[in-house]
Amino acid sequence: MTATLESVSPSDPTDVVGRFPVADAAAVAQTVARARAAFPHWRDAGAAARAAVLERFARAVGERADELTLLIAREVGKARWDAAAEARLLAPKIAVTLGDGMRLVSGYEAAPGQRASYRPRGVLAVYGPFNFPAHLPNGHIAPALATGNTVVFKPSEVAPAVGAWMAERWRDAGLPEGVLEVVQGGPETGRALAAADIDGILFTGSYATGRALTLATIDAPQKILALELGGSNAMIVCADADLDLAVSEAALSIAATTGQRCTAVRRIFVERPVREQFQEKLAAVLTGLRIGAPLDEGVFMGPLASLDAHARLSRMRGLASAAGGERVLLVDAMRPPPYTGAGLVRFESAAQRHPYQREEIFGPEAALYPIGDIDEAIAAANDSDYGLAASVITCNRAKYERCIGRIRTGVLNWNKGTIGASGRLPFGGSARSGNDRPAGVTATLYCTAPQAHLESEAGFDASALPPGMPKP
Ligand code: NAD
Repeated sequence: MTATLESVSPSDPTDVVGRFPVADAAAVAQTVARARAAFPHWRDAGAAARAAVLERFARAVGERADELTLLIAREVGKARWDAAAEARLLAPKIAVTLGDGMRLVSGYEAAPGQRASYRPRGVLAVYGPFNFPAHLPNGHIAPALATGNTVVFKPSEVAPAVGAWMAERWRDAGLPEGVLEVVQGGPETGRALAAADIDGILFTGSYATGRALTLATIDAPQKILALELGGSNAMIVCADADLDLAVSEAALSIAATTGQRCTAVRRIFVERPVREQFQEKLAAVLTGLRIGAPLDEGVFMGPLASLDAHARLSRMRGLASAAGGERVLLVDAMRPPPYTGAGLVRFESAAQRHPYQREEIFGPEAALYPIGDIDEAIAAANDSDYGLAASVITCNRAKYERCIGRIRTGVLNWNKGTIGASGRLPFGGSARSGNDRPAGVTATLYCTAPQAHLESEAGFDASALPPGMPKP
């Protein structure tokens, strides 16, 4: 009997957003076979025909962004402004993919008779996370399709309805049968997809799952892995910073999406002269953030996406004092789990040894550390197992410039929080944050394989034969 995945709204346990049949290993294999059969036709359709479908999809999601906003808010609990911001990212992603993204893989002539081209890989599996259930899968699906691959999409089990909605828009756009297939389910379905006859895995999710997928494909080097994983991101606040800017960027980076962003700030290193003032102002802003039902007017943050996520966050918060931290804030959400408020913990040194300080905490919780100068801050920011995003808040450009190339992250922002990112740029990380195959505009690179060509229209030239080789 086929199992059923039931999607329940985190803000209202009586609201069943949808029910979906779970794909078991046999169903996954059949689905992948359909995508495999569709591949040669889609590859050979040519870039222009593919672009026309992508543009129709962009129009459809652009026109129906309000519908998607409501669905995201309902299914994962994002506040309306936050869900709307995500819904509005889908159409521009198509334009960037078809523009700069495709230019990166349009091939080039290195010298007369020497050319490089980029070919599609085949069938690519796209795994979605729950926190950006539309935008992040779209960031893999669009470049995969534009470059001629077919796709099997496994939405997060927390957001299957958003995944199904996106697949419907692709159908509306006239995408041929089999070019985008969907399999619904949890880790079991994910494992079956990784083991199936695919050519690559475009994954956004946790380090633990990225690691499991790496091990699962260790003997299948033909399956390319593009891993967009978690973060434990740092912000450096210099003594010369515009403090109001520092506080609002920090608060946004801590608490937007109820802290459930890979780029959320976890570690804030503050130069000693402004430490107390920064802490006081930040605590006041975090305390004032409006928590409520995602679609209520003026709400800044909704609940966490699930009760499991709430239990994990509570467990991590419970470790703060064992790590040597002093809790300075834990806002009461005044609503039952999975609602939560923002938290702040203060440390007296920048050393980070405890799991509370080193592991990803997916919730609105940050630690404050004192720091002497920018070089100390760079060393402390790099004292992490992750390498996704960092931010420097200073009025001194030279201090920021000193961080470039020295902080080991894929994103390094100046006077913007860690959560700021642009689809026109690469987006990805190193170490536990990813395998240096950044998504964003550069996603077309991992969706393709380069092919080198030596080319000649000249006929046989006997004078070019090496010594000792007879003329035919
Ligand atoms: P997750 O790793 O739990 O799940 C991601 C996907 O993998 C889901 O579709 C899930 O069903 C599947 N999965 C889980 N276990 C699997 C297994 N053993 N084999 C195959 N598939 C499996 O992640 P999540 O909780 O949905 O998302 C949150 C995580 O994603 C956080 O760590 C966050 O930092 C990260 N994230 C990273 C980025 C980025 O771009 N770097 C963006 C958003 C989220």
